[in-house]
Amino acid sequence: MPYHKLLQRQLDKLSREELNSDERFNRFVELVNSSYKAFEKDKEITEHVFQISQKEFSEINSKLKEEVEIKRFSIRRLKAALNEINIDEMETILDNDDDLLEIVDLINSQMSKRKEVESQLILAKKEAENASNAKSEFLSVVSHEIRTPLNAIIGMGHLLMKANPRPDQVENLKVLKTSSDNLLLLINDLLDYNKIEAGDLDFENAVFNLKKLLIEIVDLNRNKANERLNKLIINLDEKLPDLFLGDQARLGQIINNLVSNAIKFTKRGTVTINLILKNKNEESAIVEVSVIDTGVGIAEENLNSIFLPFKQVATSIVREHGGTGLGLAISKRILKKLNSDIFVESEFGAGSKFYFELELKTVVEKDSYLHSDQINHYNLHKKRILLVEDTLYNIAYATQLLEGWNAEVITAENGAIAVETMLTNSYDLILMDLQMPIMDGYTATSKIREFNSVIPIIALTASASSNVREQVMKAGMQDYVNKPFNPDDFYIKLKKYLN
Ligand code: ADP
Repeated sequence: MPYHKLLQRQLDKLSREELNSDERFNRFVELVNSSYKAFEKDKEITEHVFQISQKEFSEINSKLKEEVEIKRFSIRRLKAALNEINIDEMETILDNDDDLLEIVDLINSQMSKRKEVESQLILAKKEAENASNAKSEFLSVVSHEIRTPLNAIIGMGHLLMKANPRPDQVENLKVLKTSSDNLLLLINDLLDYNKIEAGDLDFENAVFNLKKLLIEIVDLNRNKANERLNKLIINLDEKLPDLFLGDQARLGQIINNLVSNAIKFTKRGTVTINLILKNKNEESAIVEVSVIDTGVGIAEENLNSIFLPFKQVATSIVREHGGTGLGLAISKRILKKLNSDIFVESEFGAGSKFYFELELKTVVEKDSYLHSDQINHYNLHKKRILLVEDTLYNIAYATQLLEGWNAEVITAENGAIAVETMLTNSYDLILMDLQMPIMDGYTATSKIREFNSVIPIIALTASASSNVREQVMKAGMQDYVNKPFNPDDFYIKLKKYLN
């Protein structure tokens, strides 16, 4: 192996024969040579290492510079964003791109402020909800209090009209009837709207004849149409099934609103009511109801607002012919609950078209239920009816109606008397007022049900609450009649339970 070049140079200078042959000297030279070489290797490695770290150092340095730039840019962006949301303390932040800690402090203080505002908002929302509930409750109670005497006014008017009044009295009685009917309409609208607003609306699911319902509604509006010299046209799709399952009262309310509006806002024109079958399968059908008039029409800018509560556009007509401005708002909300919507197309001065589609369950088997047009003569065949009622006017009205239909009426002034008389007497049916002094209708019913589970009990209620049905059923009653009651509906219900 050749010696390290520095060592070789030294050895060449010596170049003595005797030294070369000395074994110890040669070993010594070998050791020196390995030391030289080891040193050389270490030197190389050190130089290499130094070169590498310098490269890495410059790389890290440029990366750091880049990151500092990104940080400055982010802070600038953060400040711009904070400026956008208009924070008061923004001026306290210096115009320096490094003040991240100050920004963090600022955001922290903002967050605690926002939390405070949030909890205040939650509190305010709760208070508003409480106030709204109190308002609904108040409206419900007041309406009940108004409906009870109104029941007597409408009932007494009805009886006076039947008692051969003089011609001048007939006119006065007509005014009494129109005014009390309108008042009832207004209260019902207000209550309905209130109920819907409170999300307190449920639907009945009973069999009804849709074509018949439509014809009944049109008949109800015929006089008004004649007065305004309007022609009424009904188009009923022949393919339309007769019977459907649903809430006929709610559907009738919507159609009636559209028809009476069309007549109200049209003079010497035509009102056309179309009932069309759009689609049908085994279980259900989609029907379209449209009401088209050639009346005053609605300006384009008012087309959306007429569905808002209390919004009336043609105010002079409304002043003359009445209206609450709630009809369309109620209709829209009812349809929404039934997964539908109402639409309008109109041309100012030329007329309007209101229409909606509704999916209704169809009924195959004919249900044997009684319609008002099937009543030939009213006769309750001497059935014994226990009338549990405390208001004198209501007793007088119901008694005269029932006796007029050939029923025998026995009255009990409160629930306690009713329970007592039930123990020793037999009756065919009980009409039970719900709110009475001493013992209310619910308590009386449960007491009667302890010893008599068969007698039909029908509640008489002026309550506007939507869960009346549920409440009276729970108490053990079969059904209820809303006060003020319509004599025909009242008779049909009695017939149903007396047969
Ligand atoms: P109301 O009829 O009791 O005022 P509605 O909610 O039913 O309340 O109607 C709201 C308003 O929409 C009416 O006051 C009227 O301005 C307008 N409107 C409704 N139907 C018609 C129609 N067929 N033609 C013209 N305007 C109508």
